[in-house]
Amino acid sequence: MKVLIIEDSPDIVETISLCFELRWPEAKVISTPEGSKGLTLAETESPDIIILDLGLPDMDGFEVLKDIRSFSNVPIIIVTVRGDEMDRVRGLELGADDYIVKPFSHIELLARIKAVLRRTHMPELRAEEKPFHSPKLTIDFATRTVTVNGQPVRLTPTEYNLLRYLVLNEGNVLTRRALLEKVWGEEYTDSPDYLKVYIQRLRNKLEKDPANPQLLISERGIGYMFVRPPSA
Ligand code: CA
Repeated sequence: MKVLIIEDSPDIVETISLCFELRWPEAKVISTPEGSKGLTLAETESPDIIILDLGLPDMDGFEVLKDIRSFSNVPIIIVTVRGDEMDRVRGLELGADDYIVKPFSHIELLARIKAVLRRTHMPELRAEEKPFHSPKLTIDFATRTVTVNGQPVRLTPTEYNLLRYLVLNEGNVLTRRALLEKVWGEEYTDSPDYLKVYIQRLRNKLEKDPANPQLLISERGIGYMFVRPPSA
């Protein structure tokens, strides 16, 4: 496993490196204090996971995140002192997989890293999951390929896992709790922000009019349901 840490505080870099070394002794950890260098390393080193600070000397971490997401679906965990909800939601909207507020414990960080790796490296899917076909939307579960109106759509692993679970339960309302547990893990069942942001991200990528969703329907106070698109 290759880890990229983009963080300008040497203490935090050391804490995070130690965390990986303890749990994954074979992990190769690279780090840089600069956002621009981090972007280059994200491209040239192809890390398996990125830990990203928001307050960097040369660039805003959100810009780094946005740029990485333009070419890569690598799991990204934001580590920051900015703990308010607006920042958390913005980070998730821009494609972060998780968000940890400083100061944090080894145990908390390790739990987050494990959860992110678990859901971005889902085991191979079973053969009985037949491709989903409708005139506007297709999903091939074997190749993890999604198309809208014949055009391939790029989804992050978490977006894909959420869509897959909703589609496999087509026509049924799934509770927020069940979705959080299935897609993110049981540690996340009390964090509805994740789900809300990811549903919106899927709508933006899949729906004709994301403000008036026809595929990913909210059931107020309960959860979400996937509805097969009409053929007309
Ligand atoms: Ca910083």
